[in-house]
Amino acid sequence: MVVAQSVACSRCGGPVEFEPGELFATCKYCGFTTVIETGEPFSFEHSLLLNKYDEPGIDDLVKAWMASGFLKPADLARKSKILEKSLIYLPFWVISVEARTAYKGVFERISPPIVKEGTLEKEYNWLVLAREASEFPTREYDVPLEGKIPYDFRRIERFAKILNSEIGRDEALELAKQQIEADHRFLLQKDVDRIIDLKLELNMKQIVYLHAPAWFIKYDYKGSSFQIIVDGATGAVLKGDIPSSKFGIF
Ligand SMILES: [Zn+2]
Repeated sequence: MVVAQSVACSRCGGPVEFEPGELFATCKYCGFTTVIETGEPFSFEHSLLLNKYDEPGIDDLVKAWMASGFLKPADLARKSKILEKSLIYLPFWVISVEARTAYKGVFERISPPIVKEGTLEKEYNWLVLAREASEFPTREYDVPLEGKIPYDFRRIERFAKILNSEIGRDEALELAKQQIEADHRFLLQKDVDRIIDLKLELNMKQIVYLHAPAWFIKYDYKGSSFQIIVDGATGAVLKGDIPSSKFGIF
């Protein structure tokens, strides 16, 4: 068990707890975010997505998920038992950016092969989870940004856990850049078979620090436990472990 340390909140002076490795910490008394290393106020826009589900609502949603879809054991909804449900507000950096890649590559599907040049342009709200280790499926998560409000601690349930950021803005930008480049390389596969040269330029529109609600659910099915992650803002199942067919009807 790690013992939490604390800094004084840069707005209300209250104790703000943090754990080793965390860079910013949000005050549970006033909702203000402080940079741990310097004790200075956090200077970026901090937003919040609201959770729309209570515990019974999550139970209903999980049962409905279990009862639908033909890949699941027929008795999944009936034989499962929810063991744990926790609502966690996860920290993200949302990087709104125009990305432009100039590329040169060889198209080898015809003979003789030809060299192709072009540009690929896309706009993104690229999401970087601000935690070092997590099983959260960031790429599956279509963050419902329309619903975001300025961070307001009074809108967060008392039983919820709020995670602080372990990844700073610059590191998040670097990660986003690498991931966007990988995305562009993937997209370019339909135009060129081999990339000779590639240059990515990013035009940064906005960077927002965001806390978003996710329900982490553990359920038991015939003595084994499985995990489901539900987006608390939309109810979408982001990750749902399904017992393998050895449990099934086959
Ligand atoms: Zn405070």
